[in-house]
Amino acid sequence: MIAGPCAVESREQTLAIARAVARSGAAMLRGGAFKPRTSPHSFQGLGTEGLAILAEASRATGLPVVTEVLDPRDVELVAAHAAMLQIGSRNMQNFPLLREVGRCGLPVLLKRGASATLDELLAAADYILEEGNQRVVLCERGVRGFDPSTRYVLDLAAIPALRLRTPLPLIVDPSHATGRRELVAPMALAALAAGADGIMVEVHPDPAHALSDGRQALLPGDFEELADRLAALAPQFGRVLERDRSAPRNAVSRSRA
Ligand code: PEP
Ligand code: MN
Repeated sequence: MIAGPCAVESREQTLAIARAVARSGAAMLRGGAFKPRTSPHSFQGLGTEGLAILAEASRATGLPVVTEVLDPRDVELVAAHAAMLQIGSRNMQNFPLLREVGRCGLPVLLKRGASATLDELLAAADYILEEGNQRVVLCERGVRGFDPSTRYVLDLAAIPALRLRTPLPLIVDPSHATGRRELVAPMALAALAAGADGIMVEVHPDPAHALSDGRQALLPGDFEELADRLAALAPQFGRVLERDRSAPRNAVSRSRA
């Protein structure tokens, strides 16, 4: 289970959320310092200051941190503050960025583009693998649909479909997929049933005042309840990074039918 705020908003906010999700059994802390916002007028993240806050939260809780990198020029900087680099859905086909994180030495969380096919997701992962980085986790986060009832359409069939084609770990982000906090727990449980190795969810103690994605943020108590339900169903849930890293792996392209 990867959990944390959409964005790092302040030291106090991030430390409080990190402590809460650690207590509930999260394996990793998430939080954006560089935010890929649709509008340039929206909060863009705290940048370098946000990275320092994440590193402090990691030290305070023992949770490794995953955070997004938007620009190939920032890969080294972000890698100095995080345990894993996130490539967001909007950058799934940013090929220079994929190559750069392929060379960074850290595991990479690659999110599916909102209109990307599974072929395109696997080909994007190949860019990272081809640079010699085999530690890639794929994330289904919803694809573009026609119905505004949910923010995106969570494509849970992608999990068993990808499982047939790649040995890479697969996780689901029900927060961005649904955009609605009341739908996050049911879809997280459904992700487990679909065979996902993990989930990533957004948590905020005061969603009404969150600077981004408040509508989909779980309260810390909601996350605790979800974490308990997931752990009761699958004690191994949330240990994506603890898999045997020495196990031989085929490149995605070679494992395709
Ligand atoms: C995120 O996880 O912080 C994020 C921006 O999600 P996505 O790239 O899936 O929209
Ligand atoms: Mn978000």
